[in-house]
Amino acid sequence: MALPKLEVPTYELELPLSKKTIKYRPFLVKEQKILLMAMESKDSKTIQSSILDVLNTCILTPEFNISSVPIIDIEYLFLHLRAKSVGEIVESKYRCNNEVTKEDGTTKECGNIIETKINLTEILPVQDKIVDPEIRLTDKIVIKMKYPEFRLLNADVDYNDVASLTFKMIASCIEHVFDGEQFFYSNEISEEELIEFVENLSQEQFEKMEEFFNNMPRMTKKIEMTCKKCGYLHNFEVEGLEDFFG
Ligand SMILES: [Zn+2]
Repeated sequence: MALPKLEVPTYELELPLSKKTIKYRPFLVKEQKILLMAMESKDSKTIQSSILDVLNTCILTPEFNISSVPIIDIEYLFLHLRAKSVGEIVESKYRCNNEVTKEDGTTKECGNIIETKINLTEILPVQDKIVDPEIRLTDKIVIKMKYPEFRLLNADVDYNDVASLTFKMIASCIEHVFDGEQFFYSNEISEEELIEFVENLSQEQFEKMEEFFNNMPRMTKKIEMTCKKCGYLHNFEVEGLEDFFG
């Protein structure tokens, strides 16, 4: 005799940057276990690859390619997936580090533990300043940038080698190069050639590209909470998947 199959609901979501609409199902207990184990490992590579595995299982839109979507879209998708699977609210604990003055005039850290609740569906991409993705490098050469895609996280990179990682990341975010006559699309150019192009930029040209990176959208939420013990108003931002589940 076969046990009845459990029906799993499906949902639709529009991704904020690529504007792609995807269908997904919540993750199940077995998949949650994989994620919890990865989070406990505190190893970014393990966390990223388990997130990728779970997303691949839960996304029901067959033509959807995770690798070619901006990282921010994937973070957004993952937060919604988590919200539908486990719950929208994540409880976090913070230790109040406000210095309070005691009766004898000395100061001491408050140390009160403050609990706060974050609604995952309220976390949206925030951009401080919009920078035109088309960057003019010379009279003739204009490049068009795109936001870092999820494939970059999965690429075999050495996170300790910051300089080459930066070049690799910037090179991977070039959509095309226009020289006044012809478009050179990055998917038709080798990675080495793109990196070499970035390495040969002048300081001023490089700064223009950095400006684009420094103002990319971020998944962040401002948190305000008052410590019940000392009355101090804490203001801070949570950012990044590990922060939201921390
Ligand atoms: Zn306090």
